[in-house]
Amino acid sequence: MSEERVKKILSLLEKAYPDAKLVLHYKNPLELLVATILAAQCTDERVNKVTETLFKKYKTAKDYANTKQEVFEEEIRSTGFYKNKAKNIIACNKKLVEGFHGNVPDTIEELVALPGVGRKTANVLLGNVFGKQAVAVDTHVFRVAHRLELAEANDPDNVEQELCKIIPQEKWTRSCLVLGTHGRRTCVARKPLCDTCAVEKLCNSPDKIIETSNCI
Ligand code: SF4
Repeated sequence: MSEERVKKILSLLEKAYPDAKLVLHYKNPLELLVATILAAQCTDERVNKVTETLFKKYKTAKDYANTKQEVFEEEIRSTGFYKNKAKNIIACNKKLVEGFHGNVPDTIEELVALPGVGRKTANVLLGNVFGKQAVAVDTHVFRVAHRLELAEANDPDNVEQELCKIIPQEKWTRSCLVLGTHGRRTCVARKPLCDTCAVEKLCNSPDKIIETSNCI
């Protein structure tokens, strides 16, 4: 992977999506933590609907830590995998209350030690609320990285390592927002919109679909 190619791809995507940002709604680290856990196997739009109500009721880690699991399960049910998510969010907040005075920690080591928090969630937080450079590999970043041959690994944690090597560190957080936005809006999973893709000329993916006109 040439440095020039990566630079070109990122610069074209930045131009195409100057408004790239997280789709999840949040006002503080705790809200982003809960929203990101809820977003596993669920669309961000659905999570935003659920958190619109949820965040009015739960304002502190203590609020989540003290809730009844059955009640919380019902409140987040529509995000899917709600039993597991409820268990993790409550356990995670108990740990925040016990070990961090109810605050969300800002190091990768402390974040991934929380129940329900993997590297993706930790990196979303580090990059978007703690002002650090972090590569967060969600399903969209994963797909786009593969299609554009920026990464080869079969699991998100190794794709993260690959992207860290080829993207300059000062661009880690922003690049993931831009790659993710490309994946949501254009390089979608089924039937990518290659005709309108800003990096189509640099893409060799077998998933590429170029509509050719049959008119004479
Ligand atoms: S050409 Fe198509 S498959 Fe390739 S990056 Fe663009 S949208 Fe994705």
